Amino acid sequence: MADWNRTYDANFKYDVAARPGGDQIKVCFSCGTCTAGCPVTDVDERFSPRRIIRQVLLGQRAAVLSSELLWYCERCYACTAFCPQNVKFGDIMGALREMAVDEGYWPPEFIQRIRGVDRLAHSIRLDLVRAALGSDADAGSASIETAAPIIEEKIKGTSV
Ligand code: SF4
Ligand code: SF4
Repeated sequence: MADWNRTYDANFKYDVAARPGGDQIKVCFSCGTCTAGCPVTDVDERFSPRRIIRQVLLGQRAAVLSSELLWYCERCYACTAFCPQNVKFGDIMGALREMAVDEGYWPPEFIQRIRGVDRLAHSIRLDLVRAALGSDADAGSASIETAAPIIEEKIKGTSV
């Protein structure tokens, strides 16, 4: 079985740059500000926009396009807000996902499915915020559990 981390394609960065929103990837100087401000990295350090960009620039096509990390990004654009080079990583992620589907690494329906997951996650976040706001300060964080049945029903009723 091929070790995709050791497989390189010199055209990968040019192919990404040719996609809408991908052209800024070449000016990344790997400062890591994007990773420092990413809410996904905050909960799972395996996800790093800086590292993904390095992999693209190095030509690790198969390693990037086959990785499940490709679907971790929320496309919130917090990284873009802080990037000194105006690299729009959310757009680059969109380009990488399209390429991953076009090149057969992931099924086409996955793009829509992840949109549904994001929507559900945002809806659940609101439930948790409302539960926190409605909680008795003396009751502590356990009171957020009042949202659990609502969230459970939403998950049961979703098609993602
Ligand atoms: S913040 Fe911008 S320049 Fe710095 S590593 Fe991230 S994408 Fe590259
Ligand atoms: S767009 Fe993606 S990589 Fe950038 S901060 Fe949001 S979740 Fe992180």
